[in-house]
Amino acid sequence: MKILSFDEFNAKLKDYANGRAICPGHEDNMKSLSVNEGDGGRILVKCHAGCDIHHVLGSMDLTTESISGNHGFLYKNLKRCIEHAVELAKSGGLNCEAVSEVLNEVNDELIF
Ligand SMILES: [Zn+2]
Repeated sequence: MKILSFDEFNAKLKDYANGRAICPGHEDNMKSLSVNEGDGGRILVKCHAGCDIHHVLGSMDLTTESISGNHGFLYKNLKRCIEHAVELAKSGGLNCEAVSEVLNEVNDELIF
């Protein structure tokens, strides 16, 4: 799942302007959806007519991960780091050097 920037997300919305758009989750004719940019590129989405966030994103073929910004990047990289460490441990190759190599690699990819 691709993590979208604020602009990429807004481009998928109908009639987006000044933090408001048509909610894709229900028959909306009054721009019920408010969209704001949160810390670390996270996208804050709320339907004022009461649609659940998962429903709104689901109707756009997205998940909460898609709007998680850098938190999502961090999560993905940490998950990959842990998976890699588990693989190393299974093959008996887990040592401090291997772990710090993985961490360095992950660090380079983090964007803050
Ligand atoms: Zn709605």
